[in-house]
Amino acid sequence: MPSLVQELSGDRDLGGLRILLNCPFKATVLREGPAQVSGPGAAWLAYLCPVHTVDLDGWPGATDHADSGTMPCGTVLDFRSGEERLQSHADLWLTRLTGIDPAAYGGVWSDVLHHADRVLRARIAEAESAGGEASPLRSMLPSIASARRSAARGEFGVAATGLGCCETLAQYL
Ligand SMILES: [Zn+2]
Repeated sequence: MPSLVQELSGDRDLGGLRILLNCPFKATVLREGPAQVSGPGAAWLAYLCPVHTVDLDGWPGATDHADSGTMPCGTVLDFRSGEERLQSHADLWLTRLTGIDPAAYGGVWSDVLHHADRVLRARIAEAESAGGEASPLRSMLPSIASARRSAARGEFGVAATGLGCCETLAQYL
């Protein structure tokens, strides 16, 4: 018998694991995201605790299913393509953090990530010269740089995984 995750995902391969929240609780709900743009299954599945089932910006669920603590709250299984996941990172935090909009670069992800990297470096230099604390921005740099290199090779899924690390770090800003 297929598991609920297999069933809801249309038995697709997992694209990325994302950790959206710094929450100590286990999930009570498995939130089913919208349908994939093409083909079967949900775009993503999110594990949420009772506190976070009400409010998760940018993650509009289609249906909630009961879960008995399979994963920590805030864990997302993302079944979308690499490029779709890159766009999701831009929509949810990267553009807000850096001011870099992929539309301005014609969707060329290596350019988008190159410019995002430059903005982050400038912000770190500014914060540090003012005697401030630039971490966790500094912690994002290796992942942004590796995502840029992967995108330049056309490995969008690997690039999106790099941005997933940054997304988790961005919770601590
Ligand atoms: Zn929670």
